[in-house]
Amino acid sequence: MSSSESSEQKQYFSTELLSWYRRHKRDLPWRRSRNPYHIWVSEIMLQQTRVDTVIPYFNRFMDKFPTVAALAEAPEDEVLKAWEGLGYYSRARNLQSAVREVQERYGGVVPDTKEEVASLKGVGPYTTGAILSIAYNKPEPAVDGNVMRVLSRYFLIEDDIMKGSTRVSMEKLAQELIPEEAAGDFNQGLMELGALVCTPKSPSCLTCPVMAHCAGRAAGMEESLPVKTKAKPPRPERRYAVVIEGAAEHAGRVLIRQRPAEGLLARLWELPHAAVPTAP
Ligand code: SF4
Repeated sequence: MSSSESSEQKQYFSTELLSWYRRHKRDLPWRRSRNPYHIWVSEIMLQQTRVDTVIPYFNRFMDKFPTVAALAEAPEDEVLKAWEGLGYYSRARNLQSAVREVQERYGGVVPDTKEEVASLKGVGPYTTGAILSIAYNKPEPAVDGNVMRVLSRYFLIEDDIMKGSTRVSMEKLAQELIPEEAAGDFNQGLMELGALVCTPKSPSCLTCPVMAHCAGRAAGMEESLPVKTKAKPPRPERRYAVVIEGAAEHAGRVLIRQRPAEGLLARLWELPHAAVPTAP
């Protein structure tokens, strides 16, 4: 990462982004309180999933499991049922086991230190930063792909965002940008800018609150940043699935099996299937 980011450029970014966010932020259900449990659940749901999809799930989930204690005590099947359709079910399982830990170890209160939050199952550096900054207003960065895109463009950083070292330097930069006493709003502003304005394709630079000092835009590179090496393409696999229907007293039933406890789609139910043999 270059060290050319001037303090004026940083100061401008922090001030303008914060004031834009406070004027334009979307009214989302998890923004109506600073309840750390609500923030935590919303952040887990929002991983890999669009805001519009998450809203009804979040509302239903909170009706059903309104507190840490309620989620900790719920049977796993009920939690997975409430998650049905959101995908990536390990998120729900990890969330529940971490919530159980919070219930047992911290008396149901989500902890407020980096070490404790980061040690919870399924809570990575981004979610740790989001919980600490939004719920507790602690100056912790919350850097995900969206945030790296915005920072790469604004500061014209050409480092590959798929590299761990780039994430570390982006976190350091994001931390320097957090204004005192406004960590939660600033981090949410950064996420909001990435979601609404500095979008992956065709960013809306003309309505962007920080365009005046955006180095990527000035260089005409807003569409080509961030630099991102391509992930390996998925490996296609062909499998036969069988449908075995019951007869006599089992009529109307279909044979399904449960997947192993670890790995892809762990413990979910499926039709029996086997790989299609390849020609010798
Ligand atoms: S000016 Fe354009 S490229 Fe720069 S931060 Fe704003 S939307 Fe992104």
